[in-house]
Amino acid sequence: MSAPRLEIRLDRLHHNARSLRRQLSARGIAITGVSKASLGLPEIVRTWAAAGIASIGEPRIETIEALRAAGISTPMLLIRSPMLSQVRRVVAEANSSCNSEPQVLRALAAAALDQNRRHGVLLMVELGDLREGILPADLEAVAQLTLEHPALKLLGIGTNLGCQHGIAADQRNMAELSELANALERRFDLRLELVSGGNSSNLPWLAAGHPSGRINHLRLGEALLLGREPLSRSALSGLHTDAFALVAEVIEAKVKPGQPWGQRGLTSFAALPQAPCELRHPRQRALLALGIQDVDPAGLQPQAGVRIVGASSDHLVVEADHPLAVGAELRFGLDYSALLRAMTSPFIERLCLQGDNLEGDRPGGEARRRASAQTLGLRVADRFSPSGSRG
Ligand SMILES: *Cc1c(COP(=O)(O)O)cnc(C)c1O
Repeated sequence: MSAPRLEIRLDRLHHNARSLRRQLSARGIAITGVSKASLGLPEIVRTWAAAGIASIGEPRIETIEALRAAGISTPMLLIRSPMLSQVRRVVAEANSSCNSEPQVLRALAAAALDQNRRHGVLLMVELGDLREGILPADLEAVAQLTLEHPALKLLGIGTNLGCQHGIAADQRNMAELSELANALERRFDLRLELVSGGNSSNLPWLAAGHPSGRINHLRLGEALLLGREPLSRSALSGLHTDAFALVAEVIEAKVKPGQPWGQRGLTSFAALPQAPCELRHPRQRALLALGIQDVDPAGLQPQAGVRIVGASSDHLVVEADHPLAVGAELRFGLDYSALLRAMTSPFIERLCLQGDNLEGDRPGGEARRRASAQTLGLRVADRFSPSGSRG
C-alpha cells in the first residue's frame, strides 16, 4: 500500500453522525455537516447523508461545485460570506449562504434574479468571538434589506463562536440569539426557519443541560469527524475520535547521538519542543517520508513509545523506544489542524475503509452505548495535545 496515506473509517464516521443526529434531534436541533476539514470528500458526505445528516456546509464554493459534480444533491449552505467576485457561482450551486454584508446581499439578490433562482440567507450575528457577524444593533436593518429582495429568502439567523477568540457558547449569548430571533419575528411578522447556534464548540453548553431556547440548528464539523469539541479538545462521550489515521513510512532508521553538534543557527521552521536536556544519550531515531507540506506535525499523535522530535518540509523526525526498520509504517492520530492539512496535501493518499462489524466496533462497549443514547456527556480523559488555532 502506498504511503503516506490517510485511512478513513467510514463506519466510525457513520456512527458519530447517527449518534449526534439522534441526541440533537431529541433536543429539537438539526445538524448541517461541515465537511471542510475533509476537503468535502464525497465519500464522507455520502456517509453522513446515510446517517441522516440532511444538509452540508462548506466555506468554499469550489468544494460545493466539486460535490455537485460528484453527483451529490444534498442541500448545501456556504458557511463563509460569499466573495463579491463569486456570487454567481454561489447562487448557481449553493442553496443558501451565511451573510453579514449588505453589499454582498444585494449582489446575491441580483445574481439570483438573473438566474431565476431563490437563494437562502442565514444572517450571521456577532456575539463576541469577533469573527464574522452583524452587530446586534444592525440586525434589523440587514433583515429588512434581505426581505426587500424577492430573490432572497431569509432562512434565519446564526452565530459563530469559538473559532477566533475561543469564546464559549453560554446562557447569555445563546439567550441573546434566541431573543434576537423573537424580535425579528415580531418586527416583521414572520417565522424564522433556522436559529443556528454555532458549531461543535456549542456541544458542552448543550451537554450541560441548559435549555436551548430558540436554537434549532448547529453546524458541526469537528464533532462529526473527530468526536471532539474544540474548546478543550475533549472527547465527546460515545463518539469515535479515531475515524482518521495517518500512516507514514520510515525512510531512515539509525541510532544517532542524542545531541546535534556544530554551531547552531535557526532551523528551517519554528522549532518544536525539544526533548529535555538530560535525555541526551544516543537514541533510536527514524525519518518518515512526511513533512510540513503534508501535515501540522504539532497535531499528530504518535503510537506509544514513539515521539515526534522535529519536522521540516518533507521529513518527520521521530525517536522511538524500540528499533524501527526502513520500510516500516507508523500510524498517527490527528487533531483538526493536522487533518485539515493532511486532506489538503496532494501527496497523501486517501483510503476510505468500511469496518465489517459496525455493532461490535463502538467505542467504550455496552455501558457507554447505553449512556450515550441518553446524554450528550463529555468525557474529559483522553485529551489531545492541542495545536494552533483553528475554525
Ligand atoms: C468551520 C465552521 C463550522 C464548523 O466548526 P466545527 O468546530 O468544526 O464544528 C461551523 N460554522 C462555521 C461558520 C464555520 O466556519
